[in-house]
Amino acid sequence: MQKKIKQNDKTYNTSSINRIIFLIVTSAILIQGLIWLADSIYIFKSDVDDMNQIQTDFIKAQLKERVAAVIDYSDYRSQETEKVLRDELHSRTYEAYALMNSIYENNKDTKSKEEITLIIKDALREIRFNDGRGYFFIDTLEGDVILYPVYPENEGRNLINLQDDMGNYEIQKEIKLVESVGEGYLEGYWKNPNTEDNGTYKKITFVKAFEPYGWYLGCGDYLDEITKEIQGEVIAYVDSIQYGEDDSQYVFLHDYSGVELANGVYPEMIGVNNYELEDVHGSKVYQEQIKLCIEENGGYLTHYWPNTEDDGEHKKLTYVAPLPKWEWIIGTGLDLTELEELIERKEEELRVFILIRILVILLVLGLLIAVSMFYVKMFSTKMKRNFTVFRDYMISANKKLIPIDVASLDYVDFSELADVTNSMTERINHLLNYDELTGIYNRRYIKEIFDVAIKNSPEDVGIILMDIDYFKNVNDQFGHDIGDETLMVIASLLKSTTEDIGSVGRLGGEEFIAVLEDVSLEETVEIAEKIRTNIESFYISSIDGHVTISCGVVHSTNWKKDELYKQADEKLYLAKELGRNRTEY
Ligand code: GH3
Ligand code: MG
Ligand code: MG
Repeated sequence: MQKKIKQNDKTYNTSSINRIIFLIVTSAILIQGLIWLADSIYIFKSDVDDMNQIQTDFIKAQLKERVAAVIDYSDYRSQETEKVLRDELHSRTYEAYALMNSIYENNKDTKSKEEITLIIKDALREIRFNDGRGYFFIDTLEGDVILYPVYPENEGRNLINLQDDMGNYEIQKEIKLVESVGEGYLEGYWKNPNTEDNGTYKKITFVKAFEPYGWYLGCGDYLDEITKEIQGEVIAYVDSIQYGEDDSQYVFLHDYSGVELANGVYPEMIGVNNYELEDVHGSKVYQEQIKLCIEENGGYLTHYWPNTEDDGEHKKLTYVAPLPKWEWIIGTGLDLTELEELIERKEEELRVFILIRILVILLVLGLLIAVSMFYVKMFSTKMKRNFTVFRDYMISANKKLIPIDVASLDYVDFSELADVTNSMTERINHLLNYDELTGIYNRRYIKEIFDVAIKNSPEDVGIILMDIDYFKNVNDQFGHDIGDETLMVIASLLKSTTEDIGSVGRLGGEEFIAVLEDVSLEETVEIAEKIRTNIESFYISSIDGHVTISCGVVHSTNWKKDELYKQADEKLYLAKELGRNRTEY
């Protein structure tokens, strides 16, 4: 849609500035828009990634924390084992001692030592604790057995030289301890009658002196037995853990061989060896967990389980950690299907948000383009109008230089340019229209004035053609410079005389012409005479005298335009012929 102007056989493209500005503005806005869009998409992507990461990290931390809590509990309980055992043995022995003492105190005055011994033995013989493993024994400080409920056949015997499985003389050690400090703990290593194997187990014993008869009593238990009890407690604890939404999460516990020991939701699995169990992708779940625990002290695993509801599979993230001293593995997991759905929902929300953002951006871009288009259009219209002012000036310059109307321009830059152009125009116009020496109109311009006058009032134009008389003499007598000066004086006299009634110009040399509009022939003659007499009477100081002129007068009613000048020239010639300093018409 290019508008073309034809001027002097040349074609000008008027919409190019407009188009360039439009291109610059539009591409700037579009680039800004693209940056916004890219920014939005980047924010969307990093938001989704962040969200994913935060959720996953959160879940991982939760799983780890859950397992750590169980491990801490197990550790704490196992560390407590020996102390618990010692406390237990201590308090049991004290209870038995209190019983013995009360029997003794109540009966010492009425019964014999043998009778009281029997009562004491009867009172303590059947007492069992620690799941039936615990019992009380009584020996004399000489090593004679008074009470030995699990091996009653030894009662009455002297076992001073009894050795444990490591060869320690246990009874001698007990006697030594009781004799020196009255009570205390001992450690010995014995076969455990409660176990099938033939192994040696650590047994802790607490002994205390029973002073009235020179006895000591005590009880003991295998550390291992207590450990089993505590393991049982940990297993029960793990069995009881259900947490998370709908209590669907649980902690599981299995040993290094893959036997399931506890879990909060599948009781039927307990006792089952899952060493070969595979997920839907064929990963050996338990083997991987065991390997991770042994080699890396635990970590995260992902497995896929069949989904009973829709035949699909669901992803489960699990954290496992070992409890090396018991060769146990403790773990917990979370079904990630829900998380993935949540993330998908969040992603969808974000997508809608970003879409709205993009729409807003597009809307803003559209508005920006529209507004900038409006201003570009306005600007380019003004620019075009201003350029047109200059263009018109240039176009008309080959005929006439007309000063530019500065007030019609919109921008100060153009106004400044117009000011410069105008002062140049003024100068050119002056050179074009004025005679350099005298400052009155020159031949070219006075002819133009004549043409206009004839056009305006063809019937009322008077012409006075003038020539200075004997001017040669002035030059000859006073020199050329004085001659020039004289010409200037004459010109200014001519100008002042004709100012209000017409125009006067220098045709060349010492020849002048006056063009009068709206005058009759008589009036023209009258003015010619006035001019002539004015000059005649004017004293010119530089020549110390006067000059005269001769005038040829014509009027447009008498002659056609083309003949007027020639006729005036003839009248002037006549005036010269007739003696000069006169007017002929
Ligand atoms: P007349 O017109 O009365 O016949 O006598 P004239 O002496 O004026 O004769 P003519 O018109 O032939 O001569 C004009 C003289 O004017 C010739 C020239 O020396 C002188 N002249 C022309 N132009 C200039 C000029 O610009 N400056 C000076 N100083 N003299 C000029
Ligand atoms: Mg002459
Ligand atoms: Mg002359």
